[in-house]
Amino acid sequence: MADQTRLDAWWRASLERNEGGDPAMDAATYTQLVARFSIPLTTVELFLSREPRLQLWTQGHLVHAVGMEHGRPMSCIALFPQQFQVLEEPPDDDDVDVRILWGPTGTSKSVVLILKGHFLLRKGCGTVFVLQTSRDGAAAAYLVGHQVRETAGQGAGSVQLVNMAEVLDEDVDWTEEGKKTVQAWVEELCQHAQTHGRVHILADEAECDVIAEIYRALKQRHVRFTLWAAGVKLDVPADMERYVRKLTQPLRSPPAVVREVEQADDMKEGTVPAYTRPPVSAPCDGPPVLTVGHYHDEYRGDRQGHEGDYPSQCARCGELVADMLRDLRVGCDDNAPHGQGGLTYSDVFVLGGMDCDTDTPDDDELSPAPFIRGLESRGVPTRKVDHNDTAAVRQLAEMTSGPTQRAAGRGRDEAVTVANENTVWGLERHVVVYLEYDYADTTGRLRSMSRSTAQVIWVKDIRDIDSDSDTE
Ligand SMILES: [Zn+2]
Repeated sequence: MADQTRLDAWWRASLERNEGGDPAMDAATYTQLVARFSIPLTTVELFLSREPRLQLWTQGHLVHAVGMEHGRPMSCIALFPQQFQVLEEPPDDDDVDVRILWGPTGTSKSVVLILKGHFLLRKGCGTVFVLQTSRDGAAAAYLVGHQVRETAGQGAGSVQLVNMAEVLDEDVDWTEEGKKTVQAWVEELCQHAQTHGRVHILADEAECDVIAEIYRALKQRHVRFTLWAAGVKLDVPADMERYVRKLTQPLRSPPAVVREVEQADDMKEGTVPAYTRPPVSAPCDGPPVLTVGHYHDEYRGDRQGHEGDYPSQCARCGELVADMLRDLRVGCDDNAPHGQGGLTYSDVFVLGGMDCDTDTPDDDELSPAPFIRGLESRGVPTRKVDHNDTAAVRQLAEMTSGPTQRAAGRGRDEAVTVANENTVWGLERHVVVYLEYDYADTTGRLRSMSRSTAQVIWVKDIRDIDSDSDTE
């Protein structure tokens, strides 16, 4: 950041002029000022897939809609030094440009990948391959590809999605055909490199085993390549450790949500890196997490109308959540502050460990059918998304809402999305309703709550733990 150097010089000079300086100006305040002043120099424009996010703690200054460009709605986002450094740092080697972005949820890893892809296309690279390497990475891969293509505005051929999710099995071990599939694709890449000089690959929610296999094969074949991957839980092999860059500043969720995500087991145990202080202090804490109690058993002798083992099996919980959404003015036409339009049903995810696949019968213990019935009985439209329905998952990734989108003719039927938390890994919504699977659920904070840019509604499984342990 050239201007930071100038600011540093100015700061030192002003200290010399005014001996001792201003006692109120400590190092942290100064760093924040530098970040603030530097921001307009490093803004980028991206295709707008959702209404500008982070309204809560950017107060509209760091992310905002900038209107239409060639029929595409665009947003302007400010880059912070941590992201900017990753993008600006030159590769160790002209031929091999590799980066592994590692950090907890909501730290702009996808945004950095999208910008990398956009810069590559703008420099005339022709094609960017966007790779899906994990079973739960479909939405993230599609989102990155879609955003790169729309931001660059260079037509359908500029981004190619490649699905390698099946090369690993459910235990993340190589399948019988797995390595052969990767080798065959590397062969195609070699041919692509012969014609185009170089290959460019992006992979969000990456599995390091697959990334390392591709990296080693391309190096062995002396292909010139760009390989940028990102993930939350990564097992980086020793020969790739030097490419790791950590992104750890929480930029998606307000502090109230970040505090919950930080208590996820994976974060406490360190398999997911810890959050660090955000580059600017949040102007507010965000709305407190709202809770609904699902009375699991004869808790204090009364289930209060609740049914089923899990919140997803309970129509009463659905009704209570519908009431909360109404209190939040979701789906109400008159809820527009500052004339911007308010929350719509498509700003809401209902997530958890339930099974939303179409072949799961409604009376299955993991089906969310009763909860959905409760929501709909109070007039909340819902859309259940099957984990294996590629078209529906892609629609979620590019799903649009808000007045800018409606003006652009991009609005879709408004509905609350009900899905397994793994289906939407990589996506975000303003409101996340988290249906606790049971009281010992340890993944929901990381997998579900972290999708929220503003409000979390936590449907808690309340049970009498003592009597429960007696029966086990
Ligand atoms: Zn309930």
